[in-house]
Amino acid sequence: MSLIVQKYGGTSVGTPERIIHVARKIIETRDAGNQVIAVVSAMAGVTNRLIELAGQVTGEGKSPTEREMDVLLATGEQTTIALTAMALNAMGAKAVSLTGAQAGIETDGVHTKARISNISPAGVQALLDEGNIIILAGFQGKTADGKITTLGRGGSDLTAIAMAAAVDADLCQIFTDVDGVYTCDPRVVPEARKIPEISYDELLEMASSGTKVMQSRSVEFAKKFGVRFEVRSSLNNNPGTLVREETMSMESVVIRGVSLERAQAKVTIAGVPDLPGTAGKIFGAVAAANILVDMIVQNVSKTGITDISFTVHKDDVAKAEAALRPVLSELGEAVSLEAQDGIAKLSVVGIGMRSHSGVAAEMFQALSEAGINIEMISTSEIKITVTIAESQIDEAAQVTHEVFGLAG
Ligand code: ASP
Ligand code: MG
Repeated sequence: MSLIVQKYGGTSVGTPERIIHVARKIIETRDAGNQVIAVVSAMAGVTNRLIELAGQVTGEGKSPTEREMDVLLATGEQTTIALTAMALNAMGAKAVSLTGAQAGIETDGVHTKARISNISPAGVQALLDEGNIIILAGFQGKTADGKITTLGRGGSDLTAIAMAAAVDADLCQIFTDVDGVYTCDPRVVPEARKIPEISYDELLEMASSGTKVMQSRSVEFAKKFGVRFEVRSSLNNNPGTLVREETMSMESVVIRGVSLERAQAKVTIAGVPDLPGTAGKIFGAVAAANILVDMIVQNVSKTGITDISFTVHKDDVAKAEAALRPVLSELGEAVSLEAQDGIAKLSVVGIGMRSHSGVAAEMFQALSEAGINIEMISTSEIKITVTIAESQIDEAAQVTHEVFGLAG
């Protein structure tokens, strides 16, 4: 008998009908001769609604107490586990619901973003051995001294992967509302195809450059503990995408996928002295304002003066400017700051890049033939990212997808 961990996201359990549908899928899995642990999220929209309610009772300008925030947010998943187990029991199956705490998921004490520190799966194992299907609440755990915690938005993925590691599951399936990971967003590139197999690193790079499939922390966890998992749709029976460690044959594909991210802005600080500590001051100020900086480009200085550019989300521009103003005057009179939005990022990702040359040239040529100007470039071992005008991002994604033959 195999042990399978499944995870159903908020959309998959968004209505009573969908919960019944999920219950049927769980029974199918059990009837195929498997033990099943099914992790479920809060019903679609519920977590956002709870956050809103917390804001309403707390009042503007104040933050709800974190301990209570977690007690509140955990109820979203607690509702779903009870309903799913009820649906299963009404179908004649034997199911029990478990909260994160009941399932032995222990975390640190960082409320609303807790990290899993330990899982004691003995209780879960005993219930499975008694013939139960386990319906486990995603996104939550408890501290060693019993406080309820949650794992950060999208954290049900992490619950599934971590539990799969703890019970040494034979298979982990992440059911969602898309068919798997695609070579590009099919709404932008209609020829995009589902990727049958992808490495942890490729999925992480795609996630950090705009492909929204799963919480990155979960993928990192899976990589660390070698948990293979499949991302697939709960709405049909199509095979999904298998996410796993690298294999030799994966390197033969140069580019696995193209990611895009809109709504970016470029901030340029011109005329900064090329002296030790300059970049530290600039990015220290930005970090202190809690702004996520993405691409950073600094030119080689020939004259002792240089320019530094970086990208941020366009909603963070005003905050970045405010944080930098005091630093600018510290850096010297000639220093100026310019911010520009209407920018998007385009990335190509693939571990095959390590062993193939000329990938960047091919990408840049394809863009230039389409009349698209590249503003900034940055690379990692398995990714090349450029920024371009946001108005050209769809076309840029299409020509890049085409030039690397991703449509098959
Ligand atoms: N319900 C939580 C959220 O919406 C966790 C999850 O869905 O994975 O972020
Ligand atoms: Mg969700």
